[in-house]
Amino acid sequence: MNYPPEPFRIKMVEPLRRVTQEDREHALREAGFNVFALRAEDVYIDLLTDSGTGAMSDRQWGAALTGDESYAGARSFFHLAEAMREVFGFRHFVPTHQGRAAENILCAVLLRPGQYVPSNMHFDTTQANVLARDGIPENLVIALAADPRSRDPFKGNMDLGRLEEFIGRVGASNIPFGMITITNNAGGGQPVSLENLRGVSAIYRRHGIPFYIDACRYAENAFFIREREAGQQGRPLRDIVREIFALADGATMSAKKDALVNIGGFLAMNDDDVFQRVCNELILREGFPTYGGLAGRDLEAMAVGLLEGLDEDYLAYRVGQTRYLGERLLEVGIPIVEPPGGHAIYLDAGALLPHIPHAEFPGQALCVELYRQGGIRGVEIGSTMFARWDAHTGEMHYPELELVRLALPRRVYTQAHLDYVVSVAARVRAGREALRGLRLTYAPPLLRHFTCRFEPL
Ligand SMILES: *Cc1c(COP(=O)(O)O)cnc(C)c1O
Repeated sequence: MNYPPEPFRIKMVEPLRRVTQEDREHALREAGFNVFALRAEDVYIDLLTDSGTGAMSDRQWGAALTGDESYAGARSFFHLAEAMREVFGFRHFVPTHQGRAAENILCAVLLRPGQYVPSNMHFDTTQANVLARDGIPENLVIALAADPRSRDPFKGNMDLGRLEEFIGRVGASNIPFGMITITNNAGGGQPVSLENLRGVSAIYRRHGIPFYIDACRYAENAFFIREREAGQQGRPLRDIVREIFALADGATMSAKKDALVNIGGFLAMNDDDVFQRVCNELILREGFPTYGGLAGRDLEAMAVGLLEGLDEDYLAYRVGQTRYLGERLLEVGIPIVEPPGGHAIYLDAGALLPHIPHAEFPGQALCVELYRQGGIRGVEIGSTMFARWDAHTGEMHYPELELVRLALPRRVYTQAHLDYVVSVAARVRAGREALRGLRLTYAPPLLRHFTCRFEPL
Protein backbone atom coordinates (compact mmCIF):
# COMPACT_ATOMS: atom_id res chain seq x y z
CA MET A 1 0.00 0.00 0.00
CA ASN A 2 1.52 3.31 -1.09
CA TYR A 3 1.25 6.50 0.86
CA PRO A 4 0.74 9.50 -1.44
CA PRO A 5 3.44 12.12 -0.82
CA GLU A 6 1.91 15.31 0.58
CA PRO A 7 1.38 18.02 -2.07
CA PHE A 8 2.47 20.66 0.47
CA ARG A 9 5.23 21.29 2.95
CA ILE A 10 4.88 22.43 6.52
CA LYS A 11 5.80 25.96 7.57
CA MET A 12 3.99 26.28 10.86
CA VAL A 13 3.87 23.62 13.55
CA GLU A 14 1.83 22.99 16.67
CA PRO A 15 3.71 20.92 19.26
CA LEU A 16 2.06 17.72 20.46
CA ARG A 17 2.49 16.48 24.00
CA ARG A 18 3.04 12.77 24.56
CA VAL A 19 1.47 11.98 27.89
CA THR A 20 2.48 8.86 29.80
CA GLN A 21 0.24 5.82 30.05
CA GLU A 22 -0.20 6.58 33.74
CA ASP A 23 -1.44 10.10 32.93
CA ARG A 24 -3.81 8.68 30.34
CA GLU A 25 -5.24 6.22 32.86
CA HIS A 26 -5.87 9.13 35.18
CA ALA A 27 -7.41 11.27 32.40
CA LEU A 28 -9.73 8.40 31.42
CA ARG A 29 -10.99 7.97 34.98
CA GLU A 30 -11.56 11.73 35.31
CA ALA A 31 -13.44 11.70 31.98
CA GLY A 32 -15.74 8.85 33.05
CA PHE A 33 -14.26 6.79 30.19
CA ASN A 34 -15.91 9.13 27.67
CA VAL A 35 -13.35 10.59 25.23
CA PHE A 36 -15.51 13.69 24.66
CA ALA A 37 -14.64 14.70 28.24
CA LEU A 38 -10.87 14.53 27.67
CA ARG A 39 -8.80 17.67 27.36
CA ALA A 40 -7.53 17.86 23.78
CA GLU A 41 -4.03 18.52 25.16
CA ASP A 42 -4.02 15.05 26.68
CA VAL A 43 -4.62 13.51 23.22
CA TYR A 44 -1.67 12.66 20.94
CA ILE A 45 -3.47 11.88 17.65
CA ASP A 46 -6.94 13.44 17.58
CA LEU A 47 -9.21 11.68 15.09
CA LEU A 48 -12.46 12.68 16.80
CA THR A 49 -13.68 14.58 13.72
CA ASP A 50 -12.60 16.11 10.41
CA SER A 51 -14.96 19.05 10.99
CA GLY A 52 -13.16 22.38 11.27
CA THR A 53 -9.97 20.61 12.37
CA GLY A 54 -8.04 20.99 9.10
CA ALA A 55 -4.97 23.16 8.49
CA MET A 56 -5.50 26.33 6.45
CA SER A 57 -2.94 27.15 3.76
CA ASP A 58 -0.60 30.14 3.57
CA ARG A 59 -2.92 31.58 0.90
CA GLN A 60 -5.96 31.20 3.14
CA TRP A 61 -4.22 32.90 6.07
CA GLY A 62 -2.99 35.61 3.72
CA ALA A 63 -6.51 36.17 2.40
CA ALA A 64 -7.89 36.24 5.95
CA LEU A 65 -5.69 39.25 6.71
CA THR A 66 -7.32 41.14 3.84
CA GLY A 67 -10.86 40.47 5.13
CA ASP A 68 -13.26 43.39 4.66
CA GLU A 69 -15.23 43.71 7.89
CA SER A 70 -17.89 46.08 6.52
CA TYR A 71 -21.36 45.25 7.78
CA ALA A 72 -23.00 45.34 4.34
CA GLY A 73 -21.63 44.72 0.86
CA ALA A 74 -18.13 43.75 1.99
CA ARG A 75 -15.53 43.02 -0.67
CA SER A 76 -14.93 39.63 1.00
CA PHE A 77 -18.53 38.61 0.29
CA PHE A 78 -18.02 39.27 -3.42
CA HIS A 79 -14.80 37.22 -3.41
CA LEU A 80 -16.76 34.33 -1.91
CA ALA A 81 -19.64 34.88 -4.36
CA GLU A 82 -17.18 34.55 -7.24
CA ALA A 83 -15.85 31.23 -5.91
CA MET A 84 -19.41 30.01 -5.28
CA ARG A 85 -20.41 30.82 -8.85
CA GLU A 86 -17.33 29.15 -10.24
CA VAL A 87 -17.76 25.94 -8.26
CA PHE A 88 -21.51 25.44 -7.75
CA GLY A 89 -23.27 27.78 -10.17
CA PHE A 90 -26.37 28.44 -8.04
CA ARG A 91 -28.11 31.79 -8.55
CA HIS A 92 -28.16 32.75 -4.87
CA PHE A 93 -26.43 31.86 -1.64
CA VAL A 94 -26.09 33.11 1.92
CA PRO A 95 -23.11 32.42 4.21
CA THR A 96 -23.91 30.77 7.55
CA HIS A 97 -21.73 30.12 10.57
CA GLN A 98 -21.77 26.38 9.90
CA GLY A 99 -23.75 23.62 8.21
CA ARG A 100 -26.46 23.17 10.80
CA ALA A 101 -27.38 26.87 10.57
CA ALA A 102 -28.02 26.43 6.84
CA GLU A 103 -30.19 23.39 7.62
CA ASN A 104 -32.09 25.33 10.29
CA ILE A 105 -32.88 28.17 7.90
CA LEU A 106 -33.88 25.84 5.07
CA CYS A 107 -36.26 23.98 7.41
CA ALA A 108 -37.63 27.21 8.88
CA VAL A 109 -38.50 28.50 5.41
CA LEU A 110 -39.75 25.35 3.65
CA LEU A 111 -40.85 22.72 6.17
CA ARG A 112 -44.26 22.54 7.85
CA PRO A 113 -45.15 20.19 10.75
CA GLY A 114 -45.96 16.63 9.66
CA GLN A 115 -44.12 16.90 6.32
CA TYR A 116 -41.46 14.44 5.15
CA VAL A 117 -37.84 14.95 4.04
CA PRO A 118 -36.25 11.95 2.29
CA SER A 119 -32.48 11.49 1.82
CA ASN A 120 -30.00 8.65 1.36
CA MET A 121 -29.04 9.18 5.02
CA HIS A 122 -29.55 12.39 6.94
CA PHE A 123 -26.56 13.48 8.98
CA ASP A 124 -27.51 13.83 12.66
CA THR A 125 -27.76 17.66 12.61
CA THR A 126 -29.97 17.52 9.50
CA GLN A 127 -32.18 14.90 11.08
CA ALA A 128 -32.39 16.96 14.29
CA ASN A 129 -33.31 20.13 12.36
CA VAL A 130 -36.10 18.32 10.51
CA LEU A 131 -37.38 16.85 13.79
CA ALA A 132 -37.13 20.23 15.55
CA ARG A 133 -39.72 21.60 13.06
CA ASP A 134 -41.93 18.54 13.65
CA GLY A 135 -40.94 17.14 10.27
CA ILE A 136 -40.23 13.47 9.55
CA PRO A 137 -36.80 12.52 8.17
CA GLU A 138 -36.59 9.36 6.02
CA ASN A 139 -33.42 7.43 5.08
CA LEU A 140 -33.52 5.53 1.78
CA VAL A 141 -29.92 4.43 1.20
CA ILE A 142 -29.31 1.17 -0.72
CA ALA A 143 -29.32 -2.02 1.40
CA LEU A 144 -25.61 -2.73 0.67
CA ALA A 145 -24.72 0.29 2.84
CA ALA A 146 -25.36 -1.90 5.90
CA ASP A 147 -22.88 -4.60 4.83
CA PRO A 148 -19.38 -3.63 6.08
CA ARG A 149 -17.64 -6.26 3.89
CA SER A 150 -19.23 -5.21 0.57
CA ARG A 151 -16.75 -3.40 -1.69
CA ASP A 152 -19.49 -1.84 -3.81
CA PRO A 153 -17.99 1.40 -5.20
CA PHE A 154 -21.02 3.61 -4.42
CA LYS A 155 -22.47 2.49 -1.11
CA GLY A 156 -23.87 5.99 -0.51
CA ASN A 157 -26.40 5.64 -3.34
CA MET A 158 -30.09 6.28 -2.84
CA ASP A 159 -32.38 3.29 -3.43
CA LEU A 160 -34.35 4.76 -6.34
CA GLY A 161 -37.12 2.15 -6.11
CA ARG A 162 -37.69 2.90 -2.44
CA LEU A 163 -37.63 6.65 -3.16
CA GLU A 164 -40.37 6.27 -5.79
CA GLU A 165 -42.36 4.03 -3.47
CA PHE A 166 -41.93 6.49 -0.58
CA ILE A 167 -43.09 9.49 -2.62
CA GLY A 168 -46.07 7.47 -3.87
CA ARG A 169 -47.00 6.51 -0.31
CA VAL A 170 -46.76 9.90 1.48
CA GLY A 171 -47.54 12.08 -1.55
CA ALA A 172 -45.31 14.66 -3.22
CA SER A 173 -47.33 17.53 -1.72
CA ASN A 174 -46.17 16.37 1.74
CA ILE A 175 -42.50 16.61 0.75
CA PRO A 176 -41.39 20.28 0.74
CA PHE A 177 -37.87 19.31 -0.38
CA GLY A 178 -35.80 16.18 -0.92
CA MET A 179 -32.13 15.73 -0.07
CA ILE A 180 -29.06 13.57 -0.60
CA THR A 181 -25.80 13.65 1.39
CA ILE A 182 -22.52 13.48 -0.57
CA THR A 183 -20.47 11.66 0.62
CA ASN A 184 -22.69 9.75 3.03
CA ASN A 185 -21.10 10.67 6.37
CA ALA A 186 -23.54 8.71 8.53
CA GLY A 187 -22.94 5.67 6.30
CA GLY A 188 -19.14 5.36 6.37
CA GLY A 189 -18.19 8.32 4.16
CA GLN A 190 -19.25 6.33 1.09
CA PRO A 191 -19.81 8.19 -2.20
CA VAL A 192 -22.88 8.56 -4.41
CA SER A 193 -22.49 7.90 -8.15
CA LEU A 194 -23.27 10.52 -10.78
CA GLU A 195 -25.71 8.08 -12.36
CA ASN A 196 -27.55 7.79 -9.03
CA LEU A 197 -27.59 11.58 -8.60
CA ARG A 198 -29.13 11.89 -12.07
CA GLY A 199 -31.76 9.33 -11.12
CA VAL A 200 -32.58 11.05 -7.82
CA SER A 201 -32.85 14.42 -9.57
CA ALA A 202 -35.14 13.00 -12.26
CA ILE A 203 -37.47 11.50 -9.65
CA TYR A 204 -37.65 14.65 -7.50
CA ARG A 205 -38.19 16.81 -10.61
CA ARG A 206 -40.88 14.57 -12.04
CA HIS A 207 -42.78 15.02 -8.78
CA GLY A 208 -42.06 18.76 -8.53
CA ILE A 209 -40.01 18.32 -5.30
CA PRO A 210 -37.15 20.83 -4.83
CA PHE A 211 -33.83 18.95 -4.56
CA TYR A 212 -31.21 20.13 -2.03
CA ILE A 213 -27.79 18.49 -1.77
CA ASP A 214 -25.96 18.24 1.56
CA ALA A 215 -22.65 19.15 -0.05
CA CYS A 216 -20.20 18.87 2.90
CA ARG A 217 -17.86 16.45 1.11
CA TYR A 218 -18.83 17.11 -2.51
CA ALA A 219 -15.19 17.36 -3.65
CA GLU A 220 -14.24 13.96 -2.23
CA ASN A 221 -17.43 12.57 -3.79
CA ALA A 222 -16.54 14.03 -7.20
CA PHE A 223 -13.07 12.50 -6.92
CA PHE A 224 -14.57 9.05 -6.26
CA ILE A 225 -16.90 9.50 -9.25
CA ARG A 226 -13.98 10.16 -11.53
CA GLU A 227 -12.00 7.28 -10.10
CA ARG A 228 -14.71 4.64 -9.98
CA GLU A 229 -17.57 5.44 -12.36
CA ALA A 230 -17.65 4.16 -15.92
CA GLY A 231 -17.20 6.96 -18.45
CA GLN A 232 -15.97 9.52 -15.90
CA GLN A 233 -12.23 8.80 -15.99
CA GLY A 234 -10.12 11.71 -17.12
CA ARG A 235 -12.97 14.21 -16.84
CA PRO A 236 -12.00 17.50 -15.12
CA LEU A 237 -13.31 17.52 -11.54
CA ARG A 238 -14.80 20.99 -12.01
CA ASP A 239 -16.94 19.56 -14.80
CA ILE A 240 -18.23 16.72 -12.66
CA VAL A 241 -19.00 19.15 -9.84
CA ARG A 242 -20.90 21.49 -12.16
CA GLU A 243 -22.97 18.60 -13.46
CA ILE A 244 -23.79 17.43 -9.93
CA PHE A 245 -25.07 20.82 -8.80
CA ALA A 246 -26.91 21.53 -12.05
CA LEU A 247 -29.04 18.49 -11.11
CA ALA A 248 -30.17 20.22 -7.90
CA ASP A 249 -32.19 23.28 -6.87
CA GLY A 250 -29.97 24.16 -3.96
CA ALA A 251 -27.44 22.97 -1.39
CA THR A 252 -26.46 23.19 2.26
CA MET A 253 -22.82 22.93 3.23
CA SER A 254 -20.60 22.89 6.27
CA ALA A 255 -17.46 24.61 4.95
CA LYS A 256 -15.60 23.00 7.86
CA LYS A 257 -15.27 19.94 5.63
CA ASP A 258 -14.29 20.26 1.96
CA ALA A 259 -13.92 24.06 2.00
CA LEU A 260 -10.96 23.68 4.36
CA VAL A 261 -11.88 26.29 6.95
CA ASN A 262 -12.22 26.13 10.73
CA ILE A 263 -15.68 27.72 10.71
CA GLY A 264 -18.28 28.51 8.03
CA GLY A 265 -21.04 27.20 5.81
CA PHE A 266 -23.67 28.26 3.30
CA LEU A 267 -27.16 27.74 1.97
CA ALA A 268 -27.52 28.08 -1.81
CA MET A 269 -30.52 27.96 -4.12
CA ASN A 270 -31.86 29.02 -7.52
CA ASP A 271 -35.40 30.04 -6.54
CA ASP A 272 -35.78 33.85 -6.16
CA ASP A 273 -38.72 33.63 -3.78
CA VAL A 274 -37.01 31.09 -1.50
CA PHE A 275 -33.91 33.29 -1.49
CA GLN A 276 -35.92 36.27 -0.31
CA ARG A 277 -37.51 34.32 2.53
CA VAL A 278 -34.13 32.83 3.45
CA CYS A 279 -32.64 36.34 3.69
CA ASN A 280 -35.36 37.39 6.13
CA GLU A 281 -34.80 34.33 8.31
CA LEU A 282 -31.01 34.77 8.05
CA ILE A 283 -31.20 38.33 9.34
CA LEU A 284 -33.12 37.07 12.34
CA ARG A 285 -30.83 34.11 13.13
CA GLU A 286 -27.38 34.65 11.65
CA GLY A 287 -26.75 38.15 10.32
CA PHE A 288 -26.99 40.40 7.27
CA PRO A 289 -27.01 38.40 4.00
CA THR A 290 -23.54 39.52 2.89
CA TYR A 291 -21.83 38.07 5.98
CA GLY A 292 -24.23 35.51 7.46
CA GLY A 293 -22.77 34.27 10.71
CA LEU A 294 -19.18 35.01 9.73
CA ALA A 295 -16.48 37.69 9.84
CA GLY A 296 -15.08 39.11 6.59
CA ARG A 297 -11.82 37.21 7.21
CA ASP A 298 -13.76 33.93 7.41
CA LEU A 299 -15.42 34.67 4.05
CA GLU A 300 -12.00 35.25 2.48
CA ALA A 301 -10.56 32.01 3.88
CA MET A 302 -13.61 30.13 2.62
CA ALA A 303 -13.36 31.66 -0.89
CA VAL A 304 -9.77 30.39 -1.18
CA GLY A 305 -10.52 27.09 0.59
CA LEU A 306 -13.36 26.17 -1.77
CA LEU A 307 -10.96 26.16 -4.71
CA GLU A 308 -8.10 24.48 -2.80
CA GLY A 309 -10.51 21.74 -1.74
CA LEU A 310 -11.09 20.92 -5.41
CA ASP A 311 -7.41 20.80 -6.33
CA GLU A 312 -6.66 17.50 -8.06
CA ASP A 313 -3.33 16.84 -6.31
CA TYR A 314 -4.82 17.68 -2.94
CA LEU A 315 -7.77 15.30 -3.44
CA ALA A 316 -5.56 12.45 -4.68
CA TYR A 317 -3.51 12.86 -1.50
CA ARG A 318 -6.56 13.23 0.72
CA VAL A 319 -8.41 10.16 -0.52
CA GLY A 320 -5.12 8.25 -0.80
CA GLN A 321 -4.21 9.01 2.82
CA THR A 322 -7.54 7.69 4.09
CA ARG A 323 -7.23 4.60 1.90
CA TYR A 324 -3.68 4.01 3.19
CA LEU A 325 -4.88 4.02 6.80
CA GLY A 326 -7.78 1.68 5.98
CA GLU A 327 -5.75 -0.86 4.00
CA ARG A 328 -2.92 -0.90 6.58
CA LEU A 329 -5.45 -1.57 9.36
CA LEU A 330 -6.87 -4.47 7.33
CA GLU A 331 -3.31 -5.83 6.87
CA VAL A 332 -2.82 -6.05 10.65
CA GLY A 333 -6.17 -7.78 11.07
CA ILE A 334 -8.45 -4.93 12.13
CA PRO A 335 -11.87 -5.27 10.48
CA ILE A 336 -13.17 -1.98 9.00
CA VAL A 337 -16.12 -0.80 6.96
CA GLU A 338 -15.00 -1.46 3.39
CA PRO A 339 -14.06 0.07 1.06
CA PRO A 340 -12.30 2.97 2.85
CA GLY A 341 -14.41 6.14 2.56
CA GLY A 342 -13.23 9.67 1.89
CA HIS A 343 -12.76 11.29 5.26
CA ALA A 344 -12.67 8.53 7.86
CA ILE A 345 -12.06 4.87 8.60
CA TYR A 346 -14.68 3.02 10.63
CA LEU A 347 -13.31 0.20 12.78
CA ASP A 348 -15.70 -2.73 13.18
CA ALA A 349 -15.52 -3.14 16.96
CA GLY A 350 -18.36 -5.67 16.96
CA ALA A 351 -16.31 -8.02 14.76
CA LEU A 352 -13.04 -7.36 16.63
CA LEU A 353 -14.50 -7.90 20.11
CA PRO A 354 -17.23 -10.54 19.62
CA HIS A 355 -17.02 -11.54 23.30
CA ILE A 356 -18.33 -8.12 24.44
CA PRO A 357 -22.14 -7.94 24.06
CA HIS A 358 -23.93 -4.80 22.76
CA ALA A 359 -25.08 -4.03 26.31
CA GLU A 360 -21.43 -3.66 27.40
CA PHE A 361 -20.42 -1.26 24.60
CA PRO A 362 -17.71 -2.97 22.49
CA GLY A 363 -17.19 0.23 20.46
CA GLN A 364 -16.67 2.31 23.57
CA ALA A 365 -14.28 -0.34 24.92
CA LEU A 366 -12.19 -0.13 21.74
CA CYS A 367 -12.29 3.66 21.79
CA VAL A 368 -11.06 3.73 25.40
CA GLU A 369 -8.31 1.21 24.67
CA LEU A 370 -6.97 3.19 21.68
CA TYR A 371 -6.64 6.17 23.97
CA ARG A 372 -5.23 4.19 26.90
CA GLN A 373 -2.54 2.50 24.83
CA GLY A 374 -1.68 5.23 22.35
CA GLY A 375 -3.30 8.57 23.18
CA ILE A 376 -5.47 8.21 20.05
CA ARG A 377 -8.96 9.67 20.14
CA GLY A 378 -11.69 8.30 17.87
CA VAL A 379 -15.42 8.30 18.42
CA GLU A 380 -17.80 5.43 19.15
CA ILE A 381 -20.63 5.04 16.66
CA GLY A 382 -22.57 2.17 18.15
CA SER A 383 -24.67 1.41 21.19
CA THR A 384 -23.58 4.47 23.18
CA MET A 385 -24.93 6.65 20.38
CA PHE A 386 -27.83 4.61 19.04
CA ALA A 387 -29.18 2.01 21.51
CA ARG A 388 -32.86 2.81 22.15
CA TRP A 389 -35.23 1.66 24.85
CA ASP A 390 -38.56 0.59 23.36
CA ALA A 391 -41.26 1.52 25.88
CA HIS A 392 -43.86 -0.68 24.14
CA THR A 393 -41.93 -3.95 24.19
CA GLY A 394 -39.75 -3.13 27.20
CA GLU A 395 -36.66 -4.13 25.22
CA MET A 396 -33.42 -2.43 24.26
CA HIS A 397 -32.82 -2.02 20.52
CA TYR A 398 -29.17 -2.15 19.56
CA PRO A 399 -27.67 -0.91 16.29
CA GLU A 400 -26.46 -3.62 13.92
CA LEU A 401 -22.92 -2.25 13.76
CA GLU A 402 -20.64 -1.33 16.67
CA LEU A 403 -18.13 1.05 15.08
CA VAL A 404 -15.30 3.38 16.07
CA ARG A 405 -14.75 6.22 13.61
CA LEU A 406 -11.24 7.54 13.01
CA ALA A 407 -11.80 10.80 11.08
CA LEU A 408 -8.80 12.42 9.39
CA PRO A 409 -8.39 16.18 9.77
CA ARG A 410 -7.33 17.70 6.44
CA ARG A 411 -3.60 18.39 5.85
CA VAL A 412 -2.76 17.77 9.52
CA TYR A 413 -1.23 14.32 10.13
CA THR A 414 1.62 12.63 8.23
CA GLN A 415 2.34 9.03 7.23
CA ALA A 416 4.36 8.51 10.41
CA HIS A 417 1.34 9.54 12.48
CA LEU A 418 -0.87 7.07 10.62
CA ASP A 419 1.72 4.28 10.94
CA TYR A 420 1.70 4.97 14.66
CA VAL A 421 -2.11 4.64 14.72
CA VAL A 422 -1.82 1.29 12.90
CA SER A 423 0.81 0.00 15.35
CA VAL A 424 -1.30 0.96 18.37
CA ALA A 425 -4.37 -0.69 16.80
CA ALA A 426 -2.32 -3.86 16.19
CA ARG A 427 -1.25 -3.88 19.85
CA VAL A 428 -4.87 -3.44 20.96
CA ARG A 429 -5.84 -6.34 18.69
CA ALA A 430 -3.14 -8.59 20.17
CA GLY A 431 -4.62 -8.09 23.63
CA ARG A 432 -8.25 -8.10 22.53
CA GLU A 433 -9.32 -11.24 24.39
CA ALA A 434 -8.54 -9.63 27.73
CA LEU A 435 -10.57 -6.49 26.96
CA ARG A 436 -13.75 -6.02 28.94
CA GLY A 437 -16.82 -3.88 28.34
CA LEU A 438 -18.20 -0.92 30.27
CA ARG A 439 -21.22 -0.05 32.36
CA LEU A 440 -23.08 3.27 32.08
CA THR A 441 -23.09 5.27 35.32
CA TYR A 442 -24.76 8.40 33.95
CA ALA A 443 -26.70 9.13 30.74
CA PRO A 444 -28.83 12.15 29.82
CA PRO A 445 -32.07 11.45 27.92
CA LEU A 446 -30.96 12.91 24.54
CA LEU A 447 -27.68 12.78 22.56
CA ARG A 448 -26.19 10.89 25.46
CA HIS A 449 -22.85 10.04 23.84
CA PHE A 450 -21.55 13.58 24.39
CA THR A 451 -21.85 13.63 28.18
CA CYS A 452 -22.52 10.13 29.49
CA ARG A 453 -20.11 8.43 31.89
CA PHE A 454 -18.97 4.82 32.28
CA GLU A 455 -17.06 2.54 34.58
CA PRO A 456 -15.10 -0.49 33.43
CA LEU A 457 -16.54 -3.96 34.09
C1 LIG B 1 -20.73 18.24 9.54
C2 LIG B 1 -21.92 17.91 8.76
C3 LIG B 1 -23.08 18.68 8.84
C4 LIG B 1 -23.28 19.80 9.84
O1 LIG B 1 -22.32 20.79 9.74
P1 LIG B 1 -21.81 21.65 10.99
O2 LIG B 1 -20.87 22.62 10.38
O3 LIG B 1 -21.17 20.70 11.95
O4 LIG B 1 -23.00 22.31 11.58
C5 LIG B 1 -24.13 18.35 7.99
N1 LIG B 1 -24.06 17.32 7.14
C6 LIG B 1 -22.95 16.54 7.05
C7 LIG B 1 -22.91 15.42 6.07
C8 LIG B 1 -21.85 16.80 7.86
O5 LIG B 1 -20.78 16.02 7.77
